[in-house]
Amino acid sequence: MKKIVIIGYGPAGATAALYLKRYGLEPLVIGKDLGALEGYNDVVENYYGHPQPIVGSKLIQAGVDQIKNFGIEVITDSVISLKQGETGFVISTTKQTFESETVLLATGKTRQTLNIPGFKKFRGKGISLCATCDGYFYRRKKLAIVGCGLYMQHELEYLNRVSQDVTVFTHGNELQCDVENPVITDKIIGFKGDEKISHLVTEKGEYPIDGVFIALGVPSSIDFASQLGVIVEGNNITVDEKYQTNIEGLFAAGDIIGGKLQIAKAVHDGMMVADTIYTYLKNK
Ligand SMILES: Cc1cc2nc3c(=O)[nH]c(=O)nc-3n(C[C@H](O)[C@H](O)[C@H](O)COP(=O)(O)OP(=O)(O)OC[C@H]3O[C@@H](n4cnc5c(N)ncnc54)[C@H](O)[C@@H]3O)c2cc1C
Repeated sequence: MKKIVIIGYGPAGATAALYLKRYGLEPLVIGKDLGALEGYNDVVENYYGHPQPIVGSKLIQAGVDQIKNFGIEVITDSVISLKQGETGFVISTTKQTFESETVLLATGKTRQTLNIPGFKKFRGKGISLCATCDGYFYRRKKLAIVGCGLYMQHELEYLNRVSQDVTVFTHGNELQCDVENPVITDKIIGFKGDEKISHLVTEKGEYPIDGVFIALGVPSSIDFASQLGVIVEGNNITVDEKYQTNIEGLFAAGDIIGGKLQIAKAVHDGMMVADTIYTYLKNK
């Protein structure tokens, strides 16, 4: 029986592992890939200690290497089920099963992309998957945000701070939250431009645009959490101020609990949840 299994080796999971190891515990960390930044060449320009922009996936890989070098056990595999056992949790990957007294869900959020003409061409040239990361570069510009739920609402709050001209495109979906911005519900059929994006095209018209932010988030670990009866609100796992879910011994941190979807915040969560898990295990 392990003391702690961490699912996810992004900034939240890796940081938690680092602190837990320093508290004398032997965390097992399971991740399937580099998380939110897997497969993207987007650069990170707002994380401490990097005077030059750094490719996000390289930053995350450095975090994984760091915990491995520190002697932490890291497995690359997908967790396919998480259940409550007699005395703790049973975690199954595609290859193995583990038992653990506690589990930390640090599984992040995957951003949905759009399979629409022009999307790939303008990714990074006017189309962004992260308003909090890139919104700053579009100050006072004409912007579109694509989404319909709470994640979109959250990203929109940020965009409304940088521009007074943001239109919500629900891409054929029903709007599931309250917004004061103009809303267009038509399906998007393309993006146009030369070097950079200039127009968003729906089935009913063309809209001049400087930047498009995709906010069609789907949480990746809500499925596990739901199996266990964890309280989920919107796209976020609900935790208390100590990162404890409503299930004893099950903790969550990073993007998956909502708030700012940023590396700095995930690192902070990872550090804080390590304290909670350590104290929980000590007093058990
Ligand atoms: C295109 C893009 C650009 C971004 N740019 C910036 C930026 O410039 N600055 C910034 O601060 N933030 C940026 N972000 C946001 C940042 O990447 C996230 O906030 C951060 O990575 C969240 O960390 P996390 O540890 O919570 O989750 P993640 O980094 O997403 O890590 C999740 C981990 O969980 C694992 N996992 C998920 N499901 C399973 C499973 N079933 N089994 C096993 N493992 C699983 C994944 O493999 C991964 O290891 C960007 C995001 C995107 C998508």
